[in-house]
Amino acid sequence: MGIIDCHVHLNGYRESEPFNIGSELKKLLRYMNICNVEVAVVLSSYKVTSHRPSVEGLLKTLEKYENIKIVAGFSIENHSFSDFLKFRGWLQKGKLIGLKIYCGYEPHYPSDKGYQKVYDLCVELNVPVMVHCGDTYASDAKLKYSHPINVDEIATDNPELKIVICHLGNPWILDCQEVLYKNKNVYADISGLFSGPSDRYYEQRLVLKIRELLSYTSKPHHLMFGTDWPISDAKPCFRLVEKLNLSKRDLDLLMYDNAQKLFSL
Ligand SMILES: [Zn+2]
Repeated sequence: MGIIDCHVHLNGYRESEPFNIGSELKKLLRYMNICNVEVAVVLSSYKVTSHRPSVEGLLKTLEKYENIKIVAGFSIENHSFSDFLKFRGWLQKGKLIGLKIYCGYEPHYPSDKGYQKVYDLCVELNVPVMVHCGDTYASDAKLKYSHPINVDEIATDNPELKIVICHLGNPWILDCQEVLYKNKNVYADISGLFSGPSDRYYEQRLVLKIRELLSYTSKPHHLMFGTDWPISDAKPCFRLVEKLNLSKRDLDLLMYDNAQKLFSL
């Protein structure tokens, strides 16, 4: 079975260590090879630093790798209108396959007017917008902006927009469940669930929560496999999927078909 990992990064997360995109890419290719990942979707950051490459930098590095796709992070704070126009051009040429916003990391709700042009562009070009939801990797981030319930408003006001709730909005998986159930244009990825400390109890609870979500939301479900590699180790993500004990159809949707369709891969 082919696998699509719809949520990986090519950033350096240890600021004290030097960052080299070439060696990060080698590690990504190794992960894809070992875990049988056919396509990986790299999400660029909301900011450019010595450890976080620009979209331009990613495009250059990944030019030759057809099985690695790019979703560009857009930030109200850090991107200008001319950056936005560049993203537009790359989306039109198929060099990018979607956009991502980082609510919580930046103090804006998904319904902020500053994001509307992102939604309009995604609708126009029929590509999804991914929304960071749930816990944040930065202690200066604000959680009220990253709660998955906020996605309901943009899903309702932009019925043609396809939206991905990242990380199931963890730990607010129940809220994510309702937003998914209510809005046919909302999807969710199961990435990043193991970026914090975890034990067997946490893992068992996750299995129960995701099973509940699957039984509550309509079929076919809208979940997609992602890891949040390298923030999150891939192993527990695959172990989680195994423990979900899904039917062949549900497993195919989760691991491949939903992402293939949504991102037109
Ligand atoms: Zn991520």
